[in-house]
Amino acid sequence: MTTNSNSTAAAAASARPLTHNLGYPRIGEKRELKKATEAYWAGKLSRAELEQVGAELRRQNWETQRRAGIDLIPSGDFTFYDQVLDTTCLVGNVPPRFGWKLGGQVDLDTRFAIARGVRRSGSADEKGSECGCKNDEKGSSPATYASEMTKWFDTNYHYIVPEFRADTQFALSATKIFDEFSEALALGIRTKPVLTGPVSYLKLGKVQDSKNPGFNRFELLERLLPVYVQVLQKLAALGAEWVQLDEPIGALDLNDEERRALSTAYATLAAAAPQLKLLVATYFGPLRENLATYLALPVAALHIDATRGDSEEITRIVNELPADKALSLGLVDGRNIWKSDFAAQLPRLQDALAKLGTGRLLFAPSCSLQHVPVTLRNEQKLDAEFKGWLAYAEEKLSEVATLRDALAATGAPSPEIAAALAANAAAAESRRKSPRIHRPEVKARVAKIAPSDFDRSSPYPARRIAQRGGSGAAGRLDLPDFPTTSIGSFPQTPEIRAARLKHKRGELSTAEYEKFIEAETVACVRFQEEVGIDMLVHGEYERNDMVEYFGEQLDGFAFTEHGWVQSYGSRYVKPPIIFGDVARPKPMTVRWSSFAQSLTKRPMKGMLTGPVTVLQWSFVRDDQPRRDTTFEIAIALRDEVLDLEAAGIAAIQIDEPAFREGLPLRRADWAYYLDWAVNAFRLSAAGVRDDTQIHTHMCYSEFNDIIDSIAAMDADVITIETSRSNMELLGAFVDFKYPNEIGPGVYDIHSPRIPPVEEMVALMHKAAQVIPLENLWVNPDCGLKTRGWAEVRPALANMVEAARQIRAEL
Ligand code: GLN
Ligand code: ZN
Repeated sequence: MTTNSNSTAAAAASARPLTHNLGYPRIGEKRELKKATEAYWAGKLSRAELEQVGAELRRQNWETQRRAGIDLIPSGDFTFYDQVLDTTCLVGNVPPRFGWKLGGQVDLDTRFAIARGVRRSGSADEKGSECGCKNDEKGSSPATYASEMTKWFDTNYHYIVPEFRADTQFALSATKIFDEFSEALALGIRTKPVLTGPVSYLKLGKVQDSKNPGFNRFELLERLLPVYVQVLQKLAALGAEWVQLDEPIGALDLNDEERRALSTAYATLAAAAPQLKLLVATYFGPLRENLATYLALPVAALHIDATRGDSEEITRIVNELPADKALSLGLVDGRNIWKSDFAAQLPRLQDALAKLGTGRLLFAPSCSLQHVPVTLRNEQKLDAEFKGWLAYAEEKLSEVATLRDALAATGAPSPEIAAALAANAAAAESRRKSPRIHRPEVKARVAKIAPSDFDRSSPYPARRIAQRGGSGAAGRLDLPDFPTTSIGSFPQTPEIRAARLKHKRGELSTAEYEKFIEAETVACVRFQEEVGIDMLVHGEYERNDMVEYFGEQLDGFAFTEHGWVQSYGSRYVKPPIIFGDVARPKPMTVRWSSFAQSLTKRPMKGMLTGPVTVLQWSFVRDDQPRRDTTFEIAIALRDEVLDLEAAGIAAIQIDEPAFREGLPLRRADWAYYLDWAVNAFRLSAAGVRDDTQIHTHMCYSEFNDIIDSIAAMDADVITIETSRSNMELLGAFVDFKYPNEIGPGVYDIHSPRIPPVEEMVALMHKAAQVIPLENLWVNPDCGLKTRGWAEVRPALANMVEAARQIRAEL
């Protein structure tokens, strides 16, 4: 056994604050976990081989953290799917439909079944559709449906939602947390096991109980706590010294009952395991009205997110922290890829150190590092200056250690620390000054935005007449009632993906590649004409991804080779990095939209990704407000919209599937976000003439709480997902009397199933009962890129036929 098996004693001896880490990416630097898991699902890797890959990843991660100088290294943060799901298994809360009986152990395949559902054939099949909307694929009626997944706070990570019933019982049902602690101990590392705290576990789950739909899941706390007590006692018996309990719900709006649950839970847990040091971690935002509750928890340490907190609150915490508690400052941003700016942080840390003393201060990243890529070491293609601005998980750990060492140094810092501080200061300075980041012409345009730039020339009713005719005048668009359209993409076939890859590798010249894409586009346009769609799209064959495609053409964006982060299960994303002022050197989509329009007399819809979605699905610069960056993107898109219009495109869709997920965690912050997000969309769209039709698309239709903002976006047409909810989700639009045109999806593109004509007619009837007929469009729920032509051809033919039938009823 080596170094950190007695970390606290070591730190006390050297009188410096402890460093710790809340969680490390489990995906592996070369995405080893994805490859192994998918191979296991495909039957190409044995269970033992998969477990071996997991053990190897854990070992590497622990060693990396030890090398980086982290005193308290987490365990239990590794998972084959999701850490909340692991908690579900730990406490034996497997939903009854999986046929698992309380009293046994939850094995790996049951874990995967909860996450992915079980197909009739007995094999689970990965859900999700890569369309960006991350919805379950439910259409092929699995024998047992998966648990729902949802976004982990405001990250792009998705967790498996725990399900509760009035009769839910819990029992210790998995040894993973103990096994991993012992595994690390055998490697000479006494880890700090990490658990999802009991109150967050309840809060983040949902009641799924047909007999007791109104059941209050916090009533289960009493039944749940004994399992946590058992877990803690067992960890203590195995030799654990610290245990981290994640209670990130501190960043949410909580009610009194939920706050009381926190107090009750930790009174019980602390009393039951007095030999353990419990560290309660909250992150992703300030505590605000939950602060007093967290400060009073009877635990050894409280971790807070110092990158997202507000500084006054942090000062308050430092001043008011009860004397029996230590404070863990999450000072290195675990949500972004930028290097820390030490010079900005050190004074505050010095202050905290002076007030709390070394023994009561711990240093850590702000949250688990699972939200950032693994290591910069493998990034070969980024230029040195740019790379010098970044820190991934591994580098962030070194930052934590450097900050601690810089602070703990009495007298002059050692040469290494001095060098690290100087390098950090130089990187910060180069970012502050770099002309690659700061472009006066972009800032000048943002400064020049006038209130009128957010408004179309005329209100919707006048635009409607210019676009579709009325009062005796013909409109620019010759569209029938219930016009049919699609959301943009058509099947991305293996041939298209192969051609793109060859082009990227230089095996296919740009001319050859474009010829190929042209041929596909021609076929797509011909198909839409033949099947009888009214407003066409070009198919988006030239795009791999709806954000990356634009990022690659805009200044201010960078792309990495290895910047993968887990989105859910074995799905990882590699977000672009918005590092500087955004500008559009030249038109981005006009070439493909004009080409497609030249093939047909029917209107061809231009296709853009909206400013909020581009922001949401990227790593965003941290040196200016998100709002400012979004406005820069919006101006670039506005120029594109005007170029499309000038090229004769009469309808332009600006997709905003990520609009809702940008909502802040706290209600009190919603209005500010919605105001700038709506304005960013309007800025991108409002430059066009009245007779140019602006569409938007969102992959969901839970709009109840934001419908006024959706209406304020003032798109002429919005398409949304509604087929799976049987149009029920249209409710918000109905109640609000949504004034503009709307296309409630009638074809569930998340399923391979081909919807019959009658079904789509019935859905349109439902919509027509509540939405004015003249405002309705007929379209699928989302883009078709993940589907095959064999499904898309008949499905769209049925959709057109459904539109004909309802028109005939008029
Ligand atoms: N236009 C995009 C498409 O059809 C929209 C995708 C999305 O909303 N996620 O693929
Ligand atoms: Zn969509």
